[in-house]
Amino acid sequence: MNELLTNKLTTKYPLLFPDAIEFQHDDGWYSILDALCMQIQSHCNKLNSNIDIEKKEGNCQVRVIQVKEKLGTLCFYINGGDDTIYALVEFAELLSKTTCEDCGRLGDLQVTSRMKTLCDSCITANRLKSKGWNRIYSSHTDQIPII
Ligand SMILES: [Zn+2]
Repeated sequence: MNELLTNKLTTKYPLLFPDAIEFQHDDGWYSILDALCMQIQSHCNKLNSNIDIEKKEGNCQVRVIQVKEKLGTLCFYINGGDDTIYALVEFAELLSKTTCEDCGRLGDLQVTSRMKTLCDSCITANRLKSKGWNRIYSSHTDQIPII
């Protein structure tokens, strides 16, 4: 993800990103990450507002360790969290399977020597067709992957 979007996200959610990390994917997933981080921080804030200071229980501050693309899907690794947060992360990762990693529009998994979720416009714009990108799976129509 480019430096501008990286700075925007890490500045907006400083508690989630106490240390600098590299977002190892393209810019199209920024909106998914922004929504995910907003929900995670909101959940942490809610839990922390109920903290029992004497018992020091209830402190829930998730820290993001790594964010990357793997097999065409967003992978969001965290330290800390609870079942609600794990469900939020899983949902965001599922959304990335139908979101173009380049532009954020509706996309499908494409495969050549590697896997990437892209929309038709980005396949054309990036000249990926000439590099052999072919759709093997449409998550919109529930087609069975052809491998
Ligand atoms: Zn696109």
